[in-house]
Amino acid sequence: MEGDIDRILITHEQLDRRIREMADDIAACYPEEDTGLVLVPILAGSIIFLADLIRRLPMKMKLGLIAVSSYAGAVTESRDASITRDLSVDITDQHVLVIDDILDTGKTLRLVGQRLRERKPRTLRTAVLLRKPSKAPADVTADFVGFEIEDEFVVGYGLDYDGHYRNYPHIAVLKPERY
Ligand code: 5GP
Ligand code: MG
Repeated sequence: MEGDIDRILITHEQLDRRIREMADDIAACYPEEDTGLVLVPILAGSIIFLADLIRRLPMKMKLGLIAVSSYAGAVTESRDASITRDLSVDITDQHVLVIDDILDTGKTLRLVGQRLRERKPRTLRTAVLLRKPSKAPADVTADFVGFEIEDEFVVGYGLDYDGHYRNYPHIAVLKPERY
């Protein structure tokens, strides 16, 4: 795996430090006495970020999983997003925080936002680890952003290319011949 990596953009140590800060910002947004927080990670890219983030959050919460597919197979261009696993937790009148790995064109977060709003949550916010230069329409935003990155296809720390590299601990770019 290491031999496929061209360069590291964000090290695990940098990720760890930033995620602690994000957790503090998120915790400040949801007072403990205001119960009913549901985190909705978008599978599968957000799982490592989710695992590190939630262990830094002090409040009670539930998890509701949702899966969206936009990149099938060996491609680095996002296509139309579709929900492949729908939420099974009741979010009506709950505080909902959507967690995703990266905000790029915004198709994924727009789709998930529409689907979740139909269920009348009390509040709906979004946290993303990474954001690429704004290709997303103005109405698709994230309330919490870890890092701004250049418009390059990245892997690692949950993000895959053709299913691989999710377990690579840093955010990195593959060697050109690997894509
Ligand atoms: P959007 O729908 O905003 O275009 O893209 C969001 C989804 O596309 C993310 O949840 C992620 O799964 C995927 N994605 C976007 N950019 C990248 C990237 O650079 N690397 C990887 N591995 N996935 C990406
Ligand atoms: Mg994704």
